[in-house]
Amino acid sequence: MLDLRDLYQEVILDHNRSPHNFNVMADASHQAEGVNPLCGDQIYLYLYVKENKIEKVSFTGKGCAISTASASMMTDFLQGKTLEEAKEIFQQFHQMLTQKEDKETAHLGKLAILAGVKTYPARVKCATLAWHTLDAALNCCNEKISTE
Ligand code: ZN
Repeated sequence: MLDLRDLYQEVILDHNRSPHNFNVMADASHQAEGVNPLCGDQIYLYLYVKENKIEKVSFTGKGCAISTASASMMTDFLQGKTLEEAKEIFQQFHQMLTQKEDKETAHLGKLAILAGVKTYPARVKCATLAWHTLDAALNCCNEKISTE
C-alpha cells in the first residue's frame, strides 16, 4: 500500500518541478497578487471568466514547493468551474487545512492530498496562498486591473 505521506510528498515535488498553467495570461479578466511574507512566497494569479465560468486560470511567481504545488493543483482544478463552485471549493479547502477535526474531502478530489500540510502548521499559509489570491481576484474586479 502506498503511504499517504509518500504520495503527498511525491505530488508536491512533482508539481513544484513542473507547475501546471504556469504562465502570464495576457487577456485575463481578473488578476491578483498574493504574498505570504512568513515564507517569502509570491504569486500572481490570472483568471479569464466568461458568463460566470472560469474558462482559464494560470499563475506565475516564486515560492516554496508547497505554495507552488498548491497553486498548480488549484489552477488545474478550477478550469471550467463556475464562480460559485470556486468559492465553495475554497471554503472546503480552507476548512480542511484549518479545522482540527477531519472534514469530508471527497469533493476536493486530488486537492485532498494537501491535507498532509496540516501536519506542519507553519506551512498552512503556503498551501492556502493561491486560494486567498483567488478570493482577492474574484472579489475585486470585473475588469482587468493594472498596477502600472
Ligand atoms: Zn511557503
